[in-house]
Amino acid sequence: MMINTAFNMTIDGRAENSSDQIAVVNPATEAVVATIPDCSQGQLDRAVAAARAAFPGWRATSYADRQAALRAIGALVAEHAEELKQLLTAEQGKPHAAALAEIQAAAWWIGVVADQQLPETVSDAMPGQRSVTRHVPLGVVGAIVPWNFPVLLAIWKIGPALLTGNTMVLKPSPFTPLATLRLGELLQSVLPPGVLNIVSGGDALGPMMSEHGDIDKISFTGSTATGRRVMASAAANLKRLTLELGGNDAAIVLPDAKVADIAEPLFWAAFTNSGQVCVAAKRMFVHDSIYDELSAALVEIAGRVRIGDGADPDSALGPVQNRAQYERVKAMIADSRAAGHRFLTGGEPGEGPGYFVPVTLVDNPPDEARVVAEEAFGPVLPLLRYHDIDEAVARANASEYGLGGSVWSSDPAAAAEVAERLETGTVWINSAQGLTPFAAFAGHKQSGIGAENGLDGLLEFTVPQTIHHPA
Ligand code: NAD
Repeated sequence: MMINTAFNMTIDGRAENSSDQIAVVNPATEAVVATIPDCSQGQLDRAVAAARAAFPGWRATSYADRQAALRAIGALVAEHAEELKQLLTAEQGKPHAAALAEIQAAAWWIGVVADQQLPETVSDAMPGQRSVTRHVPLGVVGAIVPWNFPVLLAIWKIGPALLTGNTMVLKPSPFTPLATLRLGELLQSVLPPGVLNIVSGGDALGPMMSEHGDIDKISFTGSTATGRRVMASAAANLKRLTLELGGNDAAIVLPDAKVADIAEPLFWAAFTNSGQVCVAAKRMFVHDSIYDELSAALVEIAGRVRIGDGADPDSALGPVQNRAQYERVKAMIADSRAAGHRFLTGGEPGEGPGYFVPVTLVDNPPDEARVVAEEAFGPVLPLLRYHDIDEAVARANASEYGLGGSVWSSDPAAAAEVAERLETGTVWINSAQGLTPFAAFAGHKQSGIGAENGLDGLLEFTVPQTIHHPA
């Protein structure tokens, strides 16, 4: 069903469309739900110029006024949660309840960010000098967002960038632009023109941004492969970069874990958002002594989870978000089948319409198998037997990724010892996926550069400036 609204970009505080349009498809039905503007180079140049022109004024706006602006953004998002939820489910596929939770999290998050303060460091160590280091904005930030949590991940960038005095040009994924474009229109009422520009487009627009000579920083969330390309093109004008990239998180289940307590949270650690979460558990290492019991419990849960159109209130999981990702997930399952792996459940993707893949559990495939070595980013999980913890830690760490991980045990202290040995930016004990605005979220190894959230995340939108005063 077509959504009966025009979706416009926001450039210099005004709605703008384009003669070139891109179709947005509902992944549950494969029907076109709307078309969006395909931003031209000229329009991007104007968005960047608007952000540049707005920068001196926004930077000079008091911190308290910028905090108030963030709170106003949070209030508007909350006020329009129902409308944004409908758009998010239609474009992304996630169930209404999950879409609403994402919108509400975004509204709350930006309010928490508004409370953050930038530190100032004073040093009197040099005789006759008092050195004060503060953190000043970078200028124009280009924000590039993926399709799994379009609204929340946009807010992660908008909040700290604007609070610290930067202006922004933000691009949603071509697969999930609707809620973000609508958000841009709503925010025209609370932000001065040019402070936040939202542009939409196809595959050409991301590179146009990362190559743009008048963007000072790119804050990028997406795949590691694209992150490498962003980094290469950022070299031309030495753009600052924050890269939040892919992951292949290990969940390590210790032998003393109580299956009845952990099966449900472990299931959702892997399958929330149909596995399309950067910090989803993507390799589950289970001690040999409880492997059979835990795998049976996970199969039982999979059997009662309804997969369907996110607009249907009975659906707990939606489809894979887009055709290309659906084909990648299907190819990974086909590869496992060809290699003779056993499926504990699932393994038979539907024929459509809709990009539906059943929850698929693969029984102890070898570590070299694609389903283990690669990020599935879909509802496919390998369960992996291990015998001793050193072996499990070594196998978990044998990855180019280093995003997150989790350890599950009845003994949190023993789990914490294992957690410290994981080469990842985040580790959870007896939980997974919970990210907060209060703590840094950083990818180690090829999962990223820099951090989002917490003070570290705020500082990523600044550069230090030291002023040496006479003592
Ligand atoms: P993607 O890399 O294909 O696209 C991400 C964004 O980059 C999109 O907006 C896309 O249009 C844009 N883009 C594509 N090519 C570009 C280029 N050459 N230059 C600049 N921009 C370009 O990622 P995706 O498929 O949308 O998202 C899935 C991936 O994102 C997964 O690997 C997942 O793990 C990762 N992810 C990471 C985090 C995190 O915080 N670490 C969070 C969510 C998703």
